[in-house]
Formats: sequence, structure tokens, C-alpha cells
Amino acid sequence: MKQQQTTSETSDHHKKPVQIAERIWWVGHVLPDDPFQCHVYLIENGDQSVLVDPGSMLTFRHTLAKIEQILPFSQIRYFICHHQDPDITSCLPLIDQITNRRDAVILSHWRAIALLKHLGLSMPFECVEKMGWRIDLGSRELEFIFTPYLHFPGAFCTFEPATGSLFSSDLFGGFTEKWQLFAEDGTYFEAIRPFHEHYMPSRDILFSCLCNLEKYPLELIAPQHGSIIPKKLIPFIISKLKTIDCGLFLMSHTSSDVRQLTKLNAILQAFLHSMATYKDFKEIVKTCLSQVQQVLPISHIDFLARQNDDTLICLTCNTSNAISTTEIPSQILNIFSNNGHNWVYCPEQQMSRPMPATDPQTSSRQDEANNPLHLSNNLIIPLVESGGHRVIGIALLKFADTFTIDEETKNLLVQLAVPLSVAVERELIYRSLEFERQKYYEQSIRDPLTQLYTRIYMHESVRRLLNIHDRNSSAAVGIISLDIDHFKAVNDNFGHQAGDEVLKEFAAILIQETRSEDIQVRLGGEEFAVFIVNDTPLFVLEIAERIRQRFNLLNLDGVMQGYRFSVSCGAIIRKQQESLQDALHRADTTLYRAKKNGRNQVCSDFLS
Ligand code: GH3
Ligand code: MG
Ligand code: MG
Repeated sequence: MKQQQTTSETSDHHKKPVQIAERIWWVGHVLPDDPFQCHVYLIENGDQSVLVDPGSMLTFRHTLAKIEQILPFSQIRYFICHHQDPDITSCLPLIDQITNRRDAVILSHWRAIALLKHLGLSMPFECVEKMGWRIDLGSRELEFIFTPYLHFPGAFCTFEPATGSLFSSDLFGGFTEKWQLFAEDGTYFEAIRPFHEHYMPSRDILFSCLCNLEKYPLELIAPQHGSIIPKKLIPFIISKLKTIDCGLFLMSHTSSDVRQLTKLNAILQAFLHSMATYKDFKEIVKTCLSQVQQVLPISHIDFLARQNDDTLICLTCNTSNAISTTEIPSQILNIFSNNGHNWVYCPEQQMSRPMPATDPQTSSRQDEANNPLHLSNNLIIPLVESGGHRVIGIALLKFADTFTIDEETKNLLVQLAVPLSVAVERELIYRSLEFERQKYYEQSIRDPLTQLYTRIYMHESVRRLLNIHDRNSSAAVGIISLDIDHFKAVNDNFGHQAGDEVLKEFAAILIQETRSEDIQVRLGGEEFAVFIVNDTPLFVLEIAERIRQRFNLLNLDGVMQGYRFSVSCGAIIRKQQESLQDALHRADTTLYRAKKNGRNQVCSDFLS
């Protein structure tokens, strides 16, 4: 038996039937310009032979000629009609005329019969459901499988157990560019996909039918359209079909182009997938850009979003600072202030406000193109909060050139705007959560009175410094341990609140006299430590001395006016591999020396 047919052999198919399984024949006809490829199958079974989906008026004489090459037409007793569409049933009046046997019968579901009876045939009908969904043909039997509501409420398929052939009607059908009787590989699925996405109303209905069909020992699927699916491809095709989206015609307002709808659906799918997969908004934008670029010549997409305090931020820029209102073009301000839902196109060169003063020598077209507020050739799409009217953001589509959008593309963008709004809303929530988290983190690492780092943070951050120092001897870490002298007396003389003021003043001096990369810690009470990054021992000493002097010169207003404060300091340079605990202990010992020597002084263990 010949299993594979190629297009080069199609000329044969104009004349000859093709055996597709034992005594089962393809007897259809290749119509030019017919992407549906309507097939007719003959089940050869002596004088109990069966014609499956007899076909169209346009093809029947060719089908008849092919049947006659196998058996006399009078041998056919049963005509199965899986549904009532003209491409499979319009030849019935002809058959009615040429069939001269009294027991010939049309088998179908009552829902199709209710329509087909209007052809006014003399041949009788029989309902497959009244036959118990099977028929005994003597040496063969056939089983009918109900697949309702896929393409028709009364739709069914026919299974022939001896050869494992499933005559699947519209199910498993495909749109094929060229005539090919047998599917060769998995790429055939792409011919099936649009047909099912467009013609089958729902994935749930399709899924349950596929699960039912899967239980049969299928050797071959002979659909009414497209190509016959050989055994090796059946599990793959069924598993892929289970995942597709159906009912795409629901999305089609303006177009009946099935391939276009399939493309649109693929774009939406890819975008929704990226939303579900990535948390990073920039990744979502990247996917969105690449998807939209498939249908529109755009170079950029930017997003502006409205924060809770009504300020605008650019979600696609590197800064998360709010944009100053004076910088925002009026077209954008209008959308936000009026919650305008209309799309706005800004033609080339139109500038709603002067750009920030830039040196014409250095500003380039590229800079302008990268500035989301430069609206030349931009389409502004308002993004509305889910379930409301408030504009929460805008998408700015930057076109390479002047453009026009056809209805289908606009439809795509309208569909995209919904998940985009959700993505923007989600991003705003993430950002405000991150802001809160950062705030609490800062609170946990900073001492509330002095705003210096806490001991907990010291352990975390200093470890990094020490690791660098362990690998690189020139990245030395100086440690200054500081303890305010006779601080108890400050509290005793002026009260605890005054003591707090002094601690704050002292912390301010620590910050001012060190650099941002240094780490200033309040160890507890009136004890402090400063970690000086990557500097010479002399400089560490110098910093300690400056702190001591400034504190000593501090003259506060009020009750403490004229009071002389002082601090004792112990400075050390951490040795490579020395633990933090050991280094701090050394600094404390040095500090103790300063206390013992009379306070208000800096001691070090590297210079006498
Ligand atoms: P020395 O020169 O030996 O360091 O004497 P000192 O008085 O500074 O040392 P001591 O350890 O005896 O006293 C420290 C005081 O710091 C006692 C405590 O009440 C006070 N203190 C600790 N934490 C705070 C604070 O947060 N606010 C205020 N106002 N006082 C604090
Ligand atoms: Mg103390
Ligand atoms: Mg003290």
C-alpha cells in the first residue's frame, strides 16, 4: 500500500483512487483554488460498501469515476454524512437519482437529517444514535463517535476498527497551501491550527472530544479537509490540539482572515506568557516590542505611569524619579488630567513644548529618539485601570516614519492594551511595595535616634569590606572606636533629652568627617565605630583627630551653651584575615588607652 503522496504526483489523483488502508479508498477530487481539500472516502465491503461524506456537486462526477474503478456504484449501500454542509452533501440529489437499490440509506445524526430532508430525496435516512452508534456490515463493522458542538451540534466521526481508521469529518481538518494527501511531519499541525482555532468554538469542547478519541486504537485519521494523518503523527497532533485556543472568530470584528486572526492570537499569547513569566517590567516591554514589531514599524515603546500621588514616572527609563510637570507635553497631561481614553497621534516634528535646553552640537537624533517625551511620530495609547475609567498609564509607540494603521492592527493594539494596563498596574504596585520594603529595611539598619547604621548592619556590610581586604592587601580597612567622655554627666546635668541632642550632634560630625563609602555605626549608648575604607593609617588618624576636635569645639545653644564635650578614640588598621571581633577588640583596647591617658584624645596601635 502506498502511504506517502507528494504534490508532484497529484496529476494521478485527478484520475485514480488512492488506497489509504486495507480496502479503504480516497475517492475525492482535487479542486483548484480550494484550500479546504474536501475528501471523500470509500469503505470497500462487497455489496455493503460505504461512502463517507459523499461530497459536492462540483466533484461528484470525478468521485463516481474513481469509485467505478474499484467497484460498481450499486455496491454502495450506505452513505454516511457526518454533518450537512454542502461540500459533503450537495451531491446527494445526484446519488438519489443514480442509486437503484431499495435498501440504500443515508446515515446521519437526527440534527443533520432534520436539515437534509429538505433536499427532498427518495432515499431514506437512518439516525446513527437510533442504531446504537454502530453498524454491522458483515465482514466489517463501523462505530460512530459523537463529537457534538465542535463544528455542529450533531457532528460525529466514524471509526473502522479492523484498520483503525478514523473518519473524522471537520475535526483534524487543515488549510493546506498545496494538495498533499498525507501529512509528512509535525509541521502539518500549523495547517490544522488556524482551522481549529477558527472553526471550533471552544477549547473545552475540543479537549473532551480529543480525550474520548484518544481511547481508540487509531492507526490513521482521515479528515474531510487537509491531509490524512498517519499513525506516527497522531499522538503529537492530539497533544498539540489540546492546547490551542479556539473560538478566534469571537475576536474578529472586521476581518474573516483566519491566518490573520491566528497571528493576532499568537501575539497575544506570547505577550500574556511573558507577563505570567517575568516580573521585570522591562522584560515585558521587550516582548511587547518584539511582538508589535511583527505588525507595525515601531522602534520603541515607552510607558509612563501615574503614581498614587498623581506624579508621573517613566517605567522604561533608568531613573525612577517622578517627571517634573513642566517637562510633560500637553498631549500627555491632557490624557491624565481628563482621564481621556482616546488615542492620540503626534505627527512628525510636532512639539508641544520646548525641549529642555540642549547644546545643538551634542544633541542628536538618537537622543531625541530615546527621549520618551519627544513625541514626534508617536502614538499615545491610554491605559485604563482594570474595571475602571482612571487612566493609570500611557504606552508611547514610536514609529520610524509616518504611518497608517489598518483596522485589524488597531484591533490587535486594542486587545494588547488590556494586558498592558494590567502590567502597568502591577508594576506600580511592585514599585510601591519595593519602596515600602526599602523604607522598612532602612529603618532596620539605621538607629532611629542618630540615623547611623546599627550593629546588625555593621556585621552584614563590614564583612564585604573585610573579604575584599583579605583578597587585596592594599584595600585596607581602618577602624576608629569612639566613646563620648563622661556622657553620664551630660544626662545628669541637662537631662536625657539633652543627652539625645548631643548624640545626634555627634553623629552629624561623624557623617560630615567621613565619606559615603565609609561605614558609621552606633554600637550602642554613646559608643560608636567608623570603618574607613581603603585609606592610609595616617589619614585614618587624621579623620579621628578631626572628629575629636570638632566635637570638642561643639557649642550648643540653650542650657548646654559653653559646655565642653569630648570624645576618646582608638584607631587601628585591620590586619588581613583578622576577624571583625578581634579587630574591634583591638580598637576598644586602644580606646581604653585613650580613656586611661586622660580622655579627649586619639590613640592608635600603629603610631605612638
Ligand atoms: P566614660 O568617659 O568612662 O565613657 O564615662 P561615661 O559616663 O560616658 O560612661 P558610662 O558608660 O558610665 O555612661 C554612659 C551613659 O550613656 C549612661 C547612659 O545613661 C547614657 N546613655 C546611653 N544611651 C543613651 C541614649 O540613647 N540617650 C541618652 N541621653 N543617654 C544614653
Ligand atoms: Mg561608654
Ligand atoms: Mg563614655
